[in-house]
Amino acid sequence: MVNVMKNGIGVFLLLVAVCGAGVYAFGAHQPSEKQAVFACKHTDAEWRKILSPDAYKVLRQAGTERAYTGKYWDNHEQGIYKCAGCGQQLFSSATKFNSGTGWPSFYQTINKKAVLEQSDRSLEDERTEVLCSKCGGHLGHVFPDGPRPTGLRYCMNSVAMTFVKAPSGKKH
Ligand code: FE
Repeated sequence: MVNVMKNGIGVFLLLVAVCGAGVYAFGAHQPSEKQAVFACKHTDAEWRKILSPDAYKVLRQAGTERAYTGKYWDNHEQGIYKCAGCGQQLFSSATKFNSGTGWPSFYQTINKKAVLEQSDRSLEDERTEVLCSKCGGHLGHVFPDGPRPTGLRYCMNSVAMTFVKAPSGKKH
């Protein structure tokens, strides 16, 4: 009986240890995700060299450019918006709309894998942060008050993107 109890306690302690390790591993995975899983990775020193100071502030420090100051909020040309950090395609001009906010706004990403979304509690109202899925750069936020057909408003920072104009006659 004593042995059974000992074994029982042993199994219990083993389960606690395994579950604890599992919880720890899961918990530890979250904060490191931003640095660890992206295909395009650079050290902080490298990003500072690659990016302009303004782009660094937004892409790597989750800053926000002032409204109506960026180069794309009023851009009506047809083409593709790419990540200024890694060059990944993010948005097509075909889904850009005038949000009246002073930031380039889109109702849809160019494909479902282009961005990652995560909760941002840095302000009183919780927002959804949008990151480039290839380099983890902060692009802006997405809000549920956009136009049809998605009802979404991807509110982006111009400085986090590079616009590539479509060859004349080709629609994007
Ligand atoms: Fe990127």
